[in-house]
Amino acid sequence: MVLTVKTRDRTELVDITAEIGRLVAESGVRHGLCLVYVPHTTAGVTINENADPSVRKDLLMVLNQMVPWKADYRHIEGNSPAHVKSTLVGTSQTIAVENGHLVLGTWQGIFFCEFDGPRSRTVQVRILEGVFRE
Ligand code: ZN
Repeated sequence: MVLTVKTRDRTELVDITAEIGRLVAESGVRHGLCLVYVPHTTAGVTINENADPSVRKDLLMVLNQMVPWKADYRHIEGNSPAHVKSTLVGTSQTIAVENGHLVLGTWQGIFFCEFDGPRSRTVQVRILEGVFRE
């Protein structure tokens, strides 16, 4: 399954929890694993707090401080900071599925991480059925 995400800013965290949860529900899988994979070199996916939107802003602020836009980068395309952030954050997450629902903590959400937007992006989702021991 493929999810399309349209980003609006150069760097942005987009909450995709509801869309992933809908795909899990539609799959009919009751127990298993949900793989969320971002097939891009300047984007990523992370899980963090979705209750207070300030957390998203703080994450982006720190990432932007860690990886400045201007530095002695070699990559001719000029978007090396976005590539570095993609590697720091990672491009996949795996979430357990129980009783047809994602197993997420009360405050957790799944965020698509845009590091070189705005663009139209895709997120690959695979839901594996099976009972896994805790
Ligand atoms: Zn590049």
